[in-house]
Amino acid sequence: MRLRFAPFELQLRHRFGIAGHTRTSTPLVLTEIEYQGTIGNGEASMPPYLAENQETAQQFLSVIDLTPFDAPRNREDIERIMQYVDSVAPGNTAAKAAIDIALHDLLGKLSDKPCYELFGVNPALMPSSSFTIGIDTPEVIRKKVKEAEGFQVIKVKLGSGQDKEIIETIRAETSLPISVDANQGWKHKEAALEMIHWLSERKVLFIEQPMPKEDKEGNAWLTANSPLPIVADEACQRLVDVESAAQAYDGINIKLMKCTGLAEAAKMIVRARELNLKILIGCMTETSCAVMAAAALAPLCDWADLDGPWLVANNPWQLPLLEKGRIRLENRPGLGLRAAEE
Ligand code: MG
Repeated sequence: MRLRFAPFELQLRHRFGIAGHTRTSTPLVLTEIEYQGTIGNGEASMPPYLAENQETAQQFLSVIDLTPFDAPRNREDIERIMQYVDSVAPGNTAAKAAIDIALHDLLGKLSDKPCYELFGVNPALMPSSSFTIGIDTPEVIRKKVKEAEGFQVIKVKLGSGQDKEIIETIRAETSLPISVDANQGWKHKEAALEMIHWLSERKVLFIEQPMPKEDKEGNAWLTANSPLPIVADEACQRLVDVESAAQAYDGINIKLMKCTGLAEAAKMIVRARELNLKILIGCMTETSCAVMAAAALAPLCDWADLDGPWLVANNPWQLPLLEKGRIRLENRPGLGLRAAEE
């Protein structure tokens, strides 16, 4: 197998604000793994507040040698290849995911099966996906609620000090259920709990990463007292983190870019269920490629936040199909991607 990769700047349709950051584009590295003329596609997405960037990802990918490996015939073969990839250097989780995703797309194409079938997933169990609204002015927030047409859940970024104003602006426009992501933006547990009680009266489903990930005691206290489920995102990156997340949270947010891809995400889902955790499957700003990879596992999860391709202006792939707010998994080999110009 041969690995190729190239940088790609993914342009956002709107300036995007979360607690502490704002940006207009997201750096990607796109990957291809080729075996006898069949190509699997993958992607690394690296929002600037995380540790990786296009340079680190390309440097990591340039030392990966897949030529000694035969094409994967099953998921176990991919797990073996990913053990090698993971052993090359610590970190680099998005770059590793770019290999994992391309391998699964390739395996699906070579075995003429959709990726979800490789995991025994029933597409009919797909949860609704949320559409994310960043921290912004009331005027822009109203505009974004209108753009969420077709989605059945709104995800809101809080933690900026204008939290109630943002929720009230959205509630004046729509009665759709809301999920909240504070991105560690709440610093005092008592004030956070008061806010969660206020939110619980406004059709909010759950709260993602309310307080800084280092404040395990504060997050655990909130989880014990909150009327809404509390979900770890920044505090839970990989399989090894699931156990400790279960001590402080009701659920975890799994993202392929954090956990090195589908192979490890599938294991996290199994472990999370053993520990009675709820599961949200999320994404970064991503093209249809990485989002369709996550969508292949989404029917195994309680909630999905897979809106990346709808937030960007230059997706090289066609948008996933959205039916009643749920991504439809098509019976096409691999990730089922179609080039944008097809
Ligand atoms: Mg989050």
